[in-house]
Amino acid sequence: MALREQRPPEEGAHGGRALWEACVHCGFCLPACPTYQETGLEELSPRGRVYLLRAAAEGRIGPDDAALLEPVDSCLDCRACEVVCPSGVRVGALIEEARAALRPARRPSFWRRLLFRHLVPYPRRWALLARLVRFYQRSGLSRLARRLGWLGLLPEHLRAFEAVLPEVSGRTLRERAPRAEPWPAAPRRGRVALFTGCVQDVAFTDVNEAALRVLARNGYEVRVPSEQTCCGALHRDEGDRETARRLARQNLRVFGEALEEGVDWVVTTAGGCGAALLEYPELLADDPAVSEAARRLAARVTDVSQLLVRGGWEVPRARPAGADGRGGGTLQVAYQESCHLANVMGVREAPRALLRSLPGVRLAEMRDPARCCGSAGVYNLGHPEMSLRLLDRKMRDLPEEADVVATGNPGCALQMALGARRSGRALRVVHPVVLLDEAYRAEEVSDHGRSG
Ligand code: SF4
Ligand code: SF4
Repeated sequence: MALREQRPPEEGAHGGRALWEACVHCGFCLPACPTYQETGLEELSPRGRVYLLRAAAEGRIGPDDAALLEPVDSCLDCRACEVVCPSGVRVGALIEEARAALRPARRPSFWRRLLFRHLVPYPRRWALLARLVRFYQRSGLSRLARRLGWLGLLPEHLRAFEAVLPEVSGRTLRERAPRAEPWPAAPRRGRVALFTGCVQDVAFTDVNEAALRVLARNGYEVRVPSEQTCCGALHRDEGDRETARRLARQNLRVFGEALEEGVDWVVTTAGGCGAALLEYPELLADDPAVSEAARRLAARVTDVSQLLVRGGWEVPRARPAGADGRGGGTLQVAYQESCHLANVMGVREAPRALLRSLPGVRLAEMRDPARCCGSAGVYNLGHPEMSLRLLDRKMRDLPEEADVVATGNPGCALQMALGARRSGRALRVVHPVVLLDEAYRAEEVSDHGRSG
């Protein structure tokens, strides 16, 4: 099995040993692992998974052994174990390698192959799919499908997501990106290129649009390179490293050119995408033609909240939507950490700082905000039962008083919207940058009213 060959990208870190060799079986990772916490099963813990992968690499169990498949398949790739592991075991990298090696035995379904191999990697097909979904949502077809019970043909978890999917955009931001104009001579804070993501670009266009306005307001010149493509995170997660690497090379070309043209930062609004770009050096470690470019890009990748906090942001004077009515009541906002934003990008405090700065907003911390909500890319489609167990637990951890859940990743946003629906709570789910944008816009309206 290919794991035998696996080495960390930076050989020095582990002295060239295989990734699993660093595990000292201490078990510090067990309390951090959601699947272990839910089941109490050692084989569904990071330590158990690492042990099994080592056994497979050493030939003690077969690569298609069911005892190996389920632990590999059921890992959320949330990386919570990596943050607490004293030996620096990179469980996520191990799992991704194993998924690639076990791909024939895992047999992705027709729908997964269609989505990941034939739609997501191709921006035009993806945009066409978005237009079809939009037509379905806006033409009354969705109401008809519900009335006639057609949705009953879908698996239950897909039906649930159909109900919480926001209105899909007719044209992606990538398509609407203005042609490149010469940069103004001196932007106040810097020049950035926005990475739009694929799900974010069609289902949460409001997030990217808000990021554009917020960045401009804070002195950044923003470009949206139209040739960019999916980050490849979902493919990597599926074990389809070939497609992930192809997509990575395309983004390296596009954003490499942007960096050469004077872009200071590549800004992401989705934790999953940002983490994927950050890990391009590892994905392409054995390709000398692009590995240096991957390192250059990774050094310039930043989440929008991180950039704003690092460079300083204007604290708005007005309240975001929902915090102004009802007698000027305070909006109680709970922040749900995206696993990849927190555990791979290390961004935990910046979104909270932005939220705390908003007038009329109180940060209502939830219990265990770093625990995965069960979304984990498309984990919820393959493992609906575990996904919903984690989601229900997450909803129990939400403070009673929360009006809003803020989160920095589209998968988490969809999952939390589903959680709100399942628990019957009237919660708004929103990206922190959208609330900041709403506050700026409310401020402009009020300034305009005063001057008019
Ligand atoms: S914390 Fe790290 S070293 Fe300890 S058991 Fe878990 S993976 Fe192994
Ligand atoms: S990545 Fe998450 S689910 Fe997988 S072993 Fe680590 S903590 Fe557990």
